Amino acid sequence: MGSVTTDLSPLYPADRLARVRDAATAAGLDALLLTPGPDLRYVTGYDAKQLERLTCLVVPAAGEPFLVVPRLELPAAQASPAGNLGVELVAWDETDDPYALVAGRLGTVGRVGLADRMWAVMALRFRAAIPGAEQVAAGGVLGELRMRKSVAEVQALAEAGAAIDRVHAAVPGLLRAGRTEQQVGDDIARLIVAEGHAQVDFVIVGSGPNGASPHHELSDRVIQQGETVVVDIGGTMPSGYCSDCTRTYAVGEPPSGVQEYFDVLYRAQEAACAAVKPGVTSEEVDAAARDIITAAGYGEFFFHRTGHGIGLESHEEPYIVSGSTRPLEPGMAFSVEPGIYPGPSGARIEDILICTDQGGLRVNNAPRELVRV
Ligand code: ZN
Ligand code: ZN
Ligand code: ZN
Repeated sequence: MGSVTTDLSPLYPADRLARVRDAATAAGLDALLLTPGPDLRYVTGYDAKQLERLTCLVVPAAGEPFLVVPRLELPAAQASPAGNLGVELVAWDETDDPYALVAGRLGTVGRVGLADRMWAVMALRFRAAIPGAEQVAAGGVLGELRMRKSVAEVQALAEAGAAIDRVHAAVPGLLRAGRTEQQVGDDIARLIVAEGHAQVDFVIVGSGPNGASPHHELSDRVIQQGETVVVDIGGTMPSGYCSDCTRTYAVGEPPSGVQEYFDVLYRAQEAACAAVKPGVTSEEVDAAARDIITAAGYGEFFFHRTGHGIGLESHEEPYIVSGSTRPLEPGMAFSVEPGIYPGPSGARIEDILICTDQGGLRVNNAPRELVRV
């Protein structure tokens, strides 16, 4: 197991913009067009609002980058980390055409990379304003950079992990027979914010049969004595980095058979975490969990991938899935979350791990056993 070393380098370093431009150039792109979302935040630190008015960081392969903002967003952009990058801020007025403005400043370009999360309506406006340019997803360039976390990003994910661990530590006190999933979920949502997140991303409280539906969220179902409850929760920290952690609880003694498959799940999750090290492929980590579950006879009840990358988005590259031959590298961050859902109950255990030179480092450390409450 590795450890998180302390480093004072900034979470959003000023040289990232130049590295992103170099990567875009190497990928044959003449410009990147980054509207609000995780790509823009990654490059500039600016957590811009996604509005119908265009905000767009333009990163030409040749020439200086500039940030186009609606006039009324200019103070917010100046006050954001983007205001300190030495990037020109170009404000547009209500009667201007910001797409024509970008096109005019860019000149002739052959291929442009659009932020993966750009609204289609904006992509189409850019297509009309820059008709000669081929549009491709910028994620091919940015995903490669974003999946390799810096020391500061690892620290931010560790802080997110510790925050969601504190929420899970409180969950046994919230789960009682007679309460609804919604009531428990409302309490959890408040705790996610109270423990330091800037926003709640999702709250899954799957009681009894709902635990067999991996992405069940909340319902008015009343939790019964003798049931298991899958609790999968996450949020976004003020840093921009996300948490995501699942534990399975039992209200009293679980139904017969549950502890048996839970023990298999526990071993599978441990094995997949132990398999993490540089050079091991994503699909080998998936197989480390899946082989154990299949050998125990529960293979058909584990019907999702083992994990997903995490960072500024709660689901991003690298995906831990069969068919992904991508070798893990130090700094990659992802979930290991096998589940077994035989019905009428189910269970999942999820931790976020960082791949380090010494192996997988878990940022979630709440007890993983089937906790009786
Ligand atoms: Zn999921
Ligand atoms: Zn989750
Ligand atoms: Zn997850």
